[in-house]
Amino acid sequence: MKKINRCIFCNNNKFKKRFNYTKPVPREIKLKIDYRKYSRYYKSCKICGHWFSVIKIDLNNLYNKEYVASTYGDKLNQTFKKIISLPKSKSDNYFRVKRILNFSKNFFKNKKKYKLLDVGSGLGVFPYEMKKKGLDCTALDPDKNASNHIKNKLKIKTKNIDFFKSKFNKKFNIVTLNKVLEHVENPTKMLKKIKNNLIKKENFFYIEVPDATEASKINKDREEFAIDHLHVFTLNSLYLLIKNCNFTPILIERIKENSNKFTLIAFGKF
Ligand SMILES: [Zn+2]
Repeated sequence: MKKINRCIFCNNNKFKKRFNYTKPVPREIKLKIDYRKYSRYYKSCKICGHWFSVIKIDLNNLYNKEYVASTYGDKLNQTFKKIISLPKSKSDNYFRVKRILNFSKNFFKNKKKYKLLDVGSGLGVFPYEMKKKGLDCTALDPDKNASNHIKNKLKIKTKNIDFFKSKFNKKFNIVTLNKVLEHVENPTKMLKKIKNNLIKKENFFYIEVPDATEASKINKDREEFAIDHLHVFTLNSLYLLIKNCNFTPILIERIKENSNKFTLIAFGKF
């Protein structure tokens, strides 16, 4: 990650050093790195509070090759089945689907088959459930194994592309980015790209990112601060992210998920 001298959200140049790590947090993805030299920390912006990862390990090609392999091994479909059979009370996805459908019902005037684009689908649990609810879903994932699994096993329209680097201009009513923006170096650039994918008059987007404010009150060994999280957000930085892309924020909320994760969610529109 490039050295950050100014906050990319509020442009302030004063930071505070936060959690320091010399070993992975529990359940962190395994990387092909020398763990004896493991070293990283976070610094937070003194104005908007956003947490930036300061790390020398190059994570750039992580999602193209190793991410899914190291996170799920070759048990993609098994893991998928395990997640979709979780009881409601343990499923983050159940409440995510419910949240978005409720919003959609109030937001769109008509009842029709809306088109949804899910960026960074991973195992495809989310588009799978949304398709069952009647939406016309398309999934994107840079990982080949994940994409094949979604396309072939779940029968969902899938593109195996890196959204950040690719030209993908198909239009949708809804674009979702669930736990995606914390993984990229420049979340603003990433979010701006969805402009090309939103149908002008009838659109909204939905974002989920880890919540630094709440998670940091508990301890530093939480999943919100895993090595692949280059960014950990605050209500302020998430709001600024949306504004800086010239989108309209509609609702921003702090939630605690059933998996125990502290998460910030946002709905906005173009
Ligand atoms: Zn800031």
